[in-house]
Amino acid sequence: MYFPQICGKTVVSHLAKNFGVDLATKKEVLLNQEEKKLADRLSLMIRMAATGELVMSDRHELVRNEDEDGGDEDWDFEEEEGVETKREISQKMLDEALAFYRSGKRKRNHRGEGIRSFESMKSRFRWFNNESVLKLMIKYERTGVFPAKRNIQLEKLANDLNKEVEDILNQGLQFSDFELRELALSINREKKYWEKFKCSESWLLKWKKRFRICGRRITEFVSTKTERDAKKTLELVETLRKDIETVFINNPGIEMWNCDQTGLVKESHSMRTLARKGSRKVKILVQSKSATTHSITLLPIIGCDGFQHEKLFVQLGEPKGRLPKSGCYTSSKMELAVGTSHIMSRETAGEFFKNVLFGGYIPPKLILLLDSWPIFKDHAYIRSFAPPTVDLHIFNIPPGATSLCQPADLSYNRQVKGIQKQLTTMVLFRNIDYRLSARDNLLKLACQIHWVLGAVRFQPFIAYGFFQGGFVKTRPPPFEGPKQYIFGPKSYDSCSCSAQGCTLCPKCEKSYCFNCFWVNLHRC
Ligand SMILES: [Zn+2]
Ligand SMILES: [Zn+2]
Repeated sequence: MYFPQICGKTVVSHLAKNFGVDLATKKEVLLNQEEKKLADRLSLMIRMAATGELVMSDRHELVRNEDEDGGDEDWDFEEEEGVETKREISQKMLDEALAFYRSGKRKRNHRGEGIRSFESMKSRFRWFNNESVLKLMIKYERTGVFPAKRNIQLEKLANDLNKEVEDILNQGLQFSDFELRELALSINREKKYWEKFKCSESWLLKWKKRFRICGRRITEFVSTKTERDAKKTLELVETLRKDIETVFINNPGIEMWNCDQTGLVKESHSMRTLARKGSRKVKILVQSKSATTHSITLLPIIGCDGFQHEKLFVQLGEPKGRLPKSGCYTSSKMELAVGTSHIMSRETAGEFFKNVLFGGYIPPKLILLLDSWPIFKDHAYIRSFAPPTVDLHIFNIPPGATSLCQPADLSYNRQVKGIQKQLTTMVLFRNIDYRLSARDNLLKLACQIHWVLGAVRFQPFIAYGFFQGGFVKTRPPPFEGPKQYIFGPKSYDSCSCSAQGCTLCPKCEKSYCFNCFWVNLHRC
């Protein structure tokens, strides 16, 4: 995964080269009014991007390219060439074969109808070259429906997809290939066009070419704060980095942990408006309007060496501040606190310090990096829970600097939210009868995401947050981001239960369906 780390000078010298500017020349450059304005603006943008005050964010949307001459009219809507030979069997051929099959005198089925062996069929009809043709013929006899050709079915699917995409275009909604693929698969499931349709990458590519659809990435530049504030915050962050570096130098072998609250909430808004047709619409109403939806706060602990604490703290909000008598989902890897809301209080923070932060494995020397939440600034309160043997160094991130340097915010928590969002999309488009926002399901989701992110392969990813935040000097080895890995192309392979897969397990590297992985909580 790519996290932007920008060196202004590198960008400028690259631009100079790109524009053929000789930097050695001493000649004064004269700018007119408009050029000056543009140069000032660009220069400010580059400076702010380098310090992290300017955030670039990408949106994906689809556009139809009407100017392009003709989409690919030759495409036959087939998914993969040569994988399954196209059937060239006409209804007349099938009728003849069926008549011959039933005219068999030597063999009879249990209903007393004449049948013939596959060999006998094959020797009579050269095209009868496959056992599956026999099955097809029997099905044809039973249903009276001549089996449609695959490419005709896929053509219908392609056209349906185009119609739905037209709506999306008209609304200018965010849409990436991930959603496009889920949409195609969902239409196919609803209309039962072709059972084995996988919506391979090549099919999607050809579809886009045929219907002149292309993805467009829009980059937005957002300034995070006014220049003056930003400068002050940056100075504070620089001081923090230096202070922590000093502790590292004076305490060889010291570990560094970061804990940052994040939430799992009801599904995001954009997906809600997106799916608004037919059965999907009904589903959305149920998913979002119900009074029993919950939000929870998670407080994971991560370490600068890629460590993830085995226990996850979760705060659940319940109307009366306590769990219903029937209880709820529990796990030995989850410390659950209940309050009247999902927002942590001093008391529940105490439970976190006592039972999670200082309740399990604790290194003898530890730097604790926390944000400026008032309870996190009360170091005496935190220390009151720590074992006396621990050499504890607590640091707070200055207010407003979380997005600049908080390790969990830069990597971990974004992925937690991203995974939830992608799953919401999936539940919607695959018509999975599962309410992600129900209390127990939300708790299960939190535990499963925590289990996923604890995979060894994601350690460099967790460590990267500390590097990106400027607290660790060595860059972790390259890695694949959790979301990209678990929802990548391989995740669509069949699950061992034969249902369509949706998630690639980062530990056993096999693909699992929604039910096996997220409902029954796959472990390996
Ligand atoms: Zn596994
Ligand atoms: Zn399964």
